[in-house]
Amino acid sequence: MKLNDLHQLNISPDHSQAMPVLFLGHGSPMNAIEENEFVEGFRNIAKTIPKPAAILCVSAHWETRGTFVTAMEKPRTIHDFGGFPKALYDVQYPAPGSPALADESKSLVTAAHIESDYQWGLDHGAWSVIRHLYPKADVPVIQMSLDYLQPPRYHYDLMKELAPLRKKGILIIGSGNMVHNLRLVAWDKFDRSNYAFDWALEAGDKMKKYILNGDHKQLINYRCHGKAFELAIPTPEHYLPLLSVMALKEEQEEVMLFNDKAVAGSLAMTSVKIG
Ligand code: ZN
Repeated sequence: MKLNDLHQLNISPDHSQAMPVLFLGHGSPMNAIEENEFVEGFRNIAKTIPKPAAILCVSAHWETRGTFVTAMEKPRTIHDFGGFPKALYDVQYPAPGSPALADESKSLVTAAHIESDYQWGLDHGAWSVIRHLYPKADVPVIQMSLDYLQPPRYHYDLMKELAPLRKKGILIIGSGNMVHNLRLVAWDKFDRSNYAFDWALEAGDKMKKYILNGDHKQLINYRCHGKAFELAIPTPEHYLPLLSVMALKEEQEEVMLFNDKAVAGSLAMTSVKIG
């Protein structure tokens, strides 16, 4: 990336302060259009962060063979879900893309080959939460995919290489849910605030302990922690964005939890801010 592109993007090359990093528990797609405490939590956290030059988002909802970054000028809003009210399908989030940030990201990573994508866009893992942070859609957004062939460690190590983006005003967001088992959702308890099954509580508490203690090895080795973790992470895609985010934590940085509540027994909305 040339210096010219940096200026075009309004990325300051000499930001002294690193941008914070966010893991956002996105939960139901309905959070995109509902008014609730989680949405309020997203809005409030945005107020604590300088306005970014651009966003790089790792969403649970984009899994590919190989790793891709979206590189189009105008990413489309993808409605990647079924059976929801029309109002949700009517939502558009017309944030611009950033081919310059896509190029910069590709050039920073040496351990893996990252390819440009021109087909995807913004899936609901990205837009359902980012629209609450930046409702005017005036911050460029690119997405980075999860490679479903790669182990947890790959996603952690890959993101470490992107750390320099933080000093260029880039907000890196991981969007998923650290506890996420849709097969076991207690639909009748969706409205009962903070309802968690015992195993969800056990896994969630351990994860939070590892997050706050900086015990990333335990987070990466989540498959070795027994039954509660197996139920909390039946498939890796909603959990891996948490690893992407934790990888960016510098030694002395603060870690803060917000939206720390369970929904319908088997989902945790717990979100993390680093820095
Ligand atoms: Zn999801």
